[in-house]
Amino acid sequence: MTIPANTICGILQRQRAFFGAGATRDVAFRACQLKALLNAVTTNEAAILQALKADLNKPDFEAYSSEVGLVRAEIKNMLQHLNSWARPRRMPAHITQLPASTWVYPEPYGVALIIAPWNYPFLLLIAPLINAITAGNCAILKPSELAPCTSALSARLIAETFAPEFVAVVAGGPETAQALLAEKFDIILYTGNSRVGRIVMQAAAKNLTPVILELGGKSPCIVDAEADIDTAARRIVWGKCFNAGQVCIAPDYVLADERIKPALLQSMSRHIQQAYNGQPEHSPDYCRIINTAHFERLCALLPHNSRDGTIIAGGETNAATRYIAPTLIDEPSPDGALMHEEVFGPLLPVLAVKSLDESIAFVNARPKPLALYFFSRNRARQERILRETSSGGGCINDVLIHFSSPTLPFGGVGESGMGKYRGRAGFDAFTHEKVFLKRSSLFDIWFRYAPYKHSYKLTKRLM
Ligand code: NAD
Repeated sequence: MTIPANTICGILQRQRAFFGAGATRDVAFRACQLKALLNAVTTNEAAILQALKADLNKPDFEAYSSEVGLVRAEIKNMLQHLNSWARPRRMPAHITQLPASTWVYPEPYGVALIIAPWNYPFLLLIAPLINAITAGNCAILKPSELAPCTSALSARLIAETFAPEFVAVVAGGPETAQALLAEKFDIILYTGNSRVGRIVMQAAAKNLTPVILELGGKSPCIVDAEADIDTAARRIVWGKCFNAGQVCIAPDYVLADERIKPALLQSMSRHIQQAYNGQPEHSPDYCRIINTAHFERLCALLPHNSRDGTIIAGGETNAATRYIAPTLIDEPSPDGALMHEEVFGPLLPVLAVKSLDESIAFVNARPKPLALYFFSRNRARQERILRETSSGGGCINDVLIHFSSPTLPFGGVGESGMGKYRGRAGFDAFTHEKVFLKRSSLFDIWFRYAPYKHSYKLTKRLM
């Protein structure tokens, strides 16, 4: 029976055949595909920026610096290193293997499934694809239905750039993702929330498919008494307002030393004011919430009584445009929803702490975050943070920008994810390292064979 080419089964079958025929093993083929993608991204830059504006009101600066520009940088880095990363590597043979040569052969897994979310709908779909192609895989991409303009544009761009037996987009919502997950893939990279991450991992377990889970969570931002308060305030506000806080590594909440908290709040309020000329709602530089469901979820997190905390700045909303002002919330209850679920929006809870010990204990009592930020000029305390906390990554005296390098690995730990991608880590994530030993038939170690009369003693001496 022939399976229609446009069904999930049909696409997968054709990709398997294409992969099996071996075209993607050729590094020249991979380089050619990467260049075609780079060209498509460059030619379609204006359309991508427009789609991101339509979905999220993303300002061009944000859309370029955190989506299009990062995609271009990722491709260029891959093109620069593809040959050396894909080459078989000779490793020293162990004395018990001699005479022989031992090798690591980087080989592609096969067909990859990439499932993306809506907050960076272009970057988080295409960056994993770039890594998958560099490693020699075919791929099926499932963009997020919640960013419809960027998803449609990505589907068109992919269809125009690649043969569907090599890379194809399957658009749709959770049912489509689940239909894809019911199939057997050779590797899955999922980006999104940890509830769905668990669904993905369960589906993958049925086929023992390796998974990379890029999840989220609450990323703490600790501000020490020895921080440069004004710089910290400015950078935290920028990081919280970027994409209106809909960033997996956005500072989720602030733990401020009680001695500097009033000054920090004051400075953050002033920086919000300055960034948007006192009117974020009318600023071209401020995003909107992706949809009504997320808008309502965030509105419900705003303080409704004194237990929920005090609004120091912002708090205004507009349902018609899904606008929520950058909002500072002082001392919300640590047991409330705001301090329990990932905010993923422009609300910033600020809690006072008495000491660094208290901050570290607070962070370590919660799931391991995707990012952790620490502001302090004190080197010894910076070292304590690095030594005594665990997170996917983070910054000292800044926020977000550890993500901006195409050469640094990116990923979470524990509840915030597993596996890493981007740069060399991205190539490795989509690569199986096959180890082979080569030897001739000329020489043999006689005592490896039975009868083992002298073998034990000789082997013990040798090893
Ligand atoms: P989303 O709702 O767009 O979902 C992500 C993908 O999962 C979509 O393609 C969607 O169709 C699919 N999906 C949804 N429900 C499903 C189900 N029941 N079964 C199978 N697939 C399903 O995005 P989201 O999850 O709201 O994204 C926000 C979350 O992602 C936040 O927690 C954020 O921190 C995290 N995130 C992480 C990273 C990272 O790189 N680690 C990046 C961005 C976002």
